[in-house]
Amino acid sequence: MEKPTLYIVIPCYNEQEVLPITKDLFLNKIKELVNLEKISVDSRILFVNDGSKDNTWEIIQKISKESEYFKGISLSRNRGHQNALVAGLMTAKEKADITISIDCDGQDDINAMNEMVDAYLDGCEVVYGVRKKRTTDTAFKRFTAEGFYHIMNLLGAEVVFNHADYRLLSKRVLEEFSEFKEVNLFLRGLIPLVGFKSTSVYYDRAERAAGESHYPLKKMLSLAFEGITSLSVKPIKLIIELGVLISMISFIGVIWAVVSSIQGKTIVGWASTVCIVCFMGGVQLLSLGVIGEYIGKIYMEVKQRPRYIISEKTWADERKKEKDERG
Ligand code: UDP
Ligand code: MG
Repeated sequence: MEKPTLYIVIPCYNEQEVLPITKDLFLNKIKELVNLEKISVDSRILFVNDGSKDNTWEIIQKISKESEYFKGISLSRNRGHQNALVAGLMTAKEKADITISIDCDGQDDINAMNEMVDAYLDGCEVVYGVRKKRTTDTAFKRFTAEGFYHIMNLLGAEVVFNHADYRLLSKRVLEEFSEFKEVNLFLRGLIPLVGFKSTSVYYDRAERAAGESHYPLKKMLSLAFEGITSLSVKPIKLIIELGVLISMISFIGVIWAVVSSIQGKTIVGWASTVCIVCFMGGVQLLSLGVIGEYIGKIYMEVKQRPRYIISEKTWADERKKEKDERG
């Protein structure tokens, strides 16, 4: 088998402190993989400058002259981690057979890349990098980050536990992924939807080499919210469940009001008021839930996601066969 071309895709936002430290780690890793004859010499490290306000882009331009392994693209403005990553992956897809996305801060152990490439050579199309434990994180970050995964799963957004955006994707997966036209991106939840054979490799997460995290609690919460609302319509479904519950409670409330008023324990007008309030509360929430169901359906429709993806056929593609025969 021909050796695959690997593109390591690295989004960078205001990373002038880290980049000079970590760039050599990436370079050494890609050289090592080339020397081990796991990947082709055409493999590259692709930096995506996500509209940085510091010298990140100047650094990328400079190092791309130092070694041909380094390449860079720059976005016209800051679009956020997920968009920067997709920009890089879609650019890499043209040349690469496999991509590995990783942060540029050196937190994710690059040695896991060997295992990732091995897993690809064994036939996996997606390899998730999963953090073993979070000993280097503060208790607070650990608690919030792990809570994040639990809540996501609870609300119907399937994500791989403790997996961030360190993963290997094959060209095949990227091509199918490009059919997902949605603008609100939450890669961790979307990639499992693409399917194909996948596996996980485990690594220890280190501390940031330098600089500061761009994911404080506020951004983490908004990422979680983004993930839930763009992957799942479960919150909308909760309204209808709440509606049913409130209706049942209201029903009991109505009976209670009527009984109390017959027993003469109440003042005039109380029972009728309670009955109306209970009735309206139940009806309104139930109706909202029904409308919500439709909105949920509309929401899923407008995403125009592919309905299915074929992974294998027992026959060869005509055009591809011809091309193979010719070339
Ligand atoms: N990043 C980006 N655009 C942004 C914010 C972050 O491209 O708007 C990049 C950043 O340079 C880094 C990665 O996304 O390579 C992860 O960010 P960070 O390390 O700050 O997050 P944490 O690891 O603390 O969750
Ligand atoms: Mg980081």
